[in-house]
Amino acid sequence: MLSLDLEQNTVLQVSANIEQWLEVSVEQALQMTPVSLLGDPLIKRVRQGLQHKERLQGRVSLTRQRGGRRCRFSGIVYRHRQRVVVELEQIAGMSERRLLPAVNEWLNGLAETNTEEALLQLLVTAVRSLTGHDRVMVYQFDADWNGTVVAESRSQAAESYLGHSFPASDIPPQVRAKYQKNTVRSIPDATADRVPLVPAQDARDPTPLDLSLGILRAVAPSHLDYTRNMGVKATLSVAMQDQQHLWGLLACHGLEPAPLSPLVRDEVCTLVHMATQRLFLLKARAETLYLQRVHDCRERLAEAQMNLLDPGLLLLQSQEWLELFNASGLALLKNGAAYSIGQALPQAELLKIGAWLSQHHNSTGVWSSQHLAGTPLAAACDLGEVCGLLAVPLPVDAIPQNWLLLLRGERLKSYRWAGWLQAQSYYDQGRYQLSAKRSFDAWVELVRDQSEPWLPHEQKAAQDIGDDLRVTILMRAISTLNERLTKANRSLEELACTDALTQVWNRYRIEQAIERDIQLGEQLGQPSVLLLLDVDFFKSINDQYGHEVGDAVLVTLADILRHSLRETDSLGRWGGEEFVILASGCSLSDGQALAERIRTAVSDMQFDQAGTVTLSIGVSQWQPGDQRSQWVDRADQAMYAAKQGGRNRVVIEAALDV
Ligand code: GH3
Ligand code: MG
Ligand code: MG
Repeated sequence: MLSLDLEQNTVLQVSANIEQWLEVSVEQALQMTPVSLLGDPLIKRVRQGLQHKERLQGRVSLTRQRGGRRCRFSGIVYRHRQRVVVELEQIAGMSERRLLPAVNEWLNGLAETNTEEALLQLLVTAVRSLTGHDRVMVYQFDADWNGTVVAESRSQAAESYLGHSFPASDIPPQVRAKYQKNTVRSIPDATADRVPLVPAQDARDPTPLDLSLGILRAVAPSHLDYTRNMGVKATLSVAMQDQQHLWGLLACHGLEPAPLSPLVRDEVCTLVHMATQRLFLLKARAETLYLQRVHDCRERLAEAQMNLLDPGLLLLQSQEWLELFNASGLALLKNGAAYSIGQALPQAELLKIGAWLSQHHNSTGVWSSQHLAGTPLAAACDLGEVCGLLAVPLPVDAIPQNWLLLLRGERLKSYRWAGWLQAQSYYDQGRYQLSAKRSFDAWVELVRDQSEPWLPHEQKAAQDIGDDLRVTILMRAISTLNERLTKANRSLEELACTDALTQVWNRYRIEQAIERDIQLGEQLGQPSVLLLLDVDFFKSINDQYGHEVGDAVLVTLADILRHSLRETDSLGRWGGEEFVILASGCSLSDGQALAERIRTAVSDMQFDQAGTVTLSIGVSQWQPGDQRSQWVDRADQAMYAAKQGGRNRVVIEAALDV
């Protein structure tokens, strides 16, 4: 490593071991100009490349004869204030010619993977085959920056860390921040002595050189402790990030020092970069698929809305919602009732949850917890096996409030912290420190009473489905209300038109029917006949057997009349013991025949107690120009004539004229 001042054309600092690599002593090097030390082409490239940049794009290369052999170096160059830092590494190991086809093959392989699991597994396999490390892992951060090893490739000698979690303090915030600036950290030999820069300080600018963009800088002693405690002598880690968000790390461990050619290291970075891109693509794809499933569910809900299905019944068919939300149970609290599927809770407990939520959660957004035991809800009801709850309010202006509840049981997961549990790393005077060596044996922490977390996309989907469900409930409620109103109206209407005793039309209704027939007669010339029926000597039935028997006779009579009619005939009680039949579309002779049939049927009938009952019937036909009263009067006169004629007979109006 060298630092140069290109303005002053001087070499400021060099690694104490420069002679081992470039066969120039420290003293000589510090006397030389940058060009005489590193050659004109390299310095020219640096001058051009660093003009407006902090770090040189790509690499520089240098070739030197050493001990009669040709040595090739590859280097990176960056700037700190006025100083230019050049880091050179000797190229060794796999030749470039063999490296590129191998890397290409791995890249093609990565591009063909279709699951996150397969992708990460291929990545660790590829990297280990390129670098030869004993253990290559992908390490994924959770929301609290704890990391878990989600993929691993290892030699037999290396113990497995797959599934182990590392506390967030292992990679503290300032270290995470550095990964954004410089995605690689490499320690090829953790046992090697540090090589100082000579002189230790630049005489004119005492600010220590900022080497955070570099590769060769020595790491903090605490970090070396950390790696030693893991039984590791070489590490390489590469950030896996998406637009400044650190998703995880690719971490390589060597049980022995593992010198790493800069070219291989670059290719590893390329692989990690491509794999990370693919990872986010697969995630985006999975998200799209999930959204599609949510969309399908909502489509079905929309159908249910059209068909005005009962949301309670709908829920019972919604097995797919359980899958969509990875829920063990699902409940709908609606108008004080609970409907549930899957492993839910007893109705009484579900209602208690609803009551608690209605009292404590006033927003229209969801309420969720993956650890119900840690919430006041636990004291309000018996949660049984349920550990996680996502509750969606369904405001429909109802008290009690309606809710959609998604329930999850305990997740069967244990964290296996790889050592260093409680704050054995700490900050001191602004620096990250680690205490003495601890065991790196896996330390198993059983996380109890917790469900899988409710992920943001799940919460969003639940809110959307809740909205639809709310509308379904609302529409169903409105339609039920409408149905009830219609029914009520209909029965009111019937009540207004029906005679209470005989259940046939009342006078008001039959008069309406008569008016309608008059209209049809006037407009279409349709004939129509009116029968006026009067019970003979009805008063004496009342007198003899009592009013109740008289009533019973009227009811039985109405039944007989009703059964003697055609579809198009109408029957009404005219008043007292008088009935009217409107035979629409009938001629006078048809009307006469109908009247005769009725008269015979009644006179042949034996009434309970009352015995024989007879009718006098007058028949009149509507004549063009007739008002209702004229038409009815003629029937009445005919009926009167029947009385006069000895009762129990039919008289038609025409007979009057005779
Ligand atoms: P006529 O042969 O001349 O028609 O003799 P009638 O006795 O049938 O005629 P009248 O008009 O003298 O008597 C009719 C009786 O019908 C008088 C009334 O008390 C009785 N009545 C009217 N409405 C009801 C009712 O709803 N129930 C009962 N039981 N009787 C009724
Ligand atoms: Mg009468
Ligand atoms: Mg009578």
